[in-house]
Amino acid sequence: MSSPESGPHVVLRERAAALARKGRAWFFRDDLGSGPPPGAGLVRVRDGRGADFGLGITSRSAKLALQLCGPWPGEGVPGPEEFFRRRLAEAVDRRLHGTLPRDGTRLVHGIADGLPGLVVDRYAGVLVLQVSAAAVERNLGCIVPFLVERFAPEMVLARNDIAVRRLEGLPQEILLLHGRRVTEVEIVEDGIRHRVLPFEGQKTGFYLDQAPARAAVRRLAKGRAVLDLFSYQGGFALAALAGGAASALAVDQSREALGRAEAAARANGLEGLRTECANVFDFLRRPDLGPFDLVILDPPAFAKSRRELPGALRGYRDLNRRALRILAPGGFLATCSCSHHLTLDRFESLVRQAAAGLPFRVLLRERIGAGGDHPVWLSMPETEYLKVLLLQRQG
Ligand code: SAH
Repeated sequence: MSSPESGPHVVLRERAAALARKGRAWFFRDDLGSGPPPGAGLVRVRDGRGADFGLGITSRSAKLALQLCGPWPGEGVPGPEEFFRRRLAEAVDRRLHGTLPRDGTRLVHGIADGLPGLVVDRYAGVLVLQVSAAAVERNLGCIVPFLVERFAPEMVLARNDIAVRRLEGLPQEILLLHGRRVTEVEIVEDGIRHRVLPFEGQKTGFYLDQAPARAAVRRLAKGRAVLDLFSYQGGFALAALAGGAASALAVDQSREALGRAEAAARANGLEGLRTECANVFDFLRRPDLGPFDLVILDPPAFAKSRRELPGALRGYRDLNRRALRILAPGGFLATCSCSHHLTLDRFESLVRQAAAGLPFRVLLRERIGAGGDHPVWLSMPETEYLKVLLLQRQG
């Protein structure tokens, strides 16, 4: 056990320290100076002259050897119980402002909340975690009791079937951490009921991050013919129908997801939904498509690494050009990218290229991001992973 003023520490090499002063929070093994990099755990981080960068978590196996967790009082390393409870309380309080959370809320958004390697999503009485750092996994014994005390959930589930865990040498698994097995939970967003499947759904079950874009689609939808591409369980299509859309066509390659979209439309008494199980790339090549008044294009992150970026960029450009071509005059395209490797600037320039050479003007009407429960850390552009541009075909 370390006393409050001591404990493990790592020293950043000068070049890395300069980056840390600018707000960088991810460091590789080569960035770490004196002493062997410790195993997975909490450390105090300093530069060669002793200036303090607060706390970090280290990894034994991942290339990402150190992630910063932000300032911490004193000079030592707190016990994990104190550290996790305080950071979790800060993250939760930041979102609630003394109010009850919405049914669907991200309570913890990783490094942006000073908790690298941890995501916590709340779906009414169900909490779903994603753990991607060994130092966090090891301390679930502090994290789960805090969440249980604070939210009294029916279930706390770890959706740890995410590829990034392999880099940490952690197993792919789905673990019931607390309570009973809840395979289905209903959340209400803007009056629309959505069914979330915590064990089987994509990500932690639902795309909470698109709540602001769903609200924008709903505002624009009245009387329009809507096309929801990469629809998953139809979050956008349902929002459009609730906003008075004349029709909505949801396209996805997952038959199960489309089935849930249809069930949700029925449960919400929304008429006018059609679904089509197809590869969107093929779908958009059909010669007789459209026109549509409002298209949503929300593809998965094709670029999982920097290496895959050039191919992904071509794919995004092609999709965006095709989606713009099927817009009716005055029609809208909400185009999204959730790739961490594609900054907002690059995404915008790509969409600009997609619009070049079309026989009509395209206006950028609005930039929308993830909701306030997915905070962006200003000095780390990677935390602004979701970009949504609302475009309009002029005339
Ligand atoms: N718009 C959704 C989230 C989309 S996630 C929402 O707001 O809830 C990406 C979706 O794309 C997934 O449902 C996945 O099944 C689907 N998908 C991935 N590649 C596809 C492809 N080539 N054609 C059709 N759907 C695809």
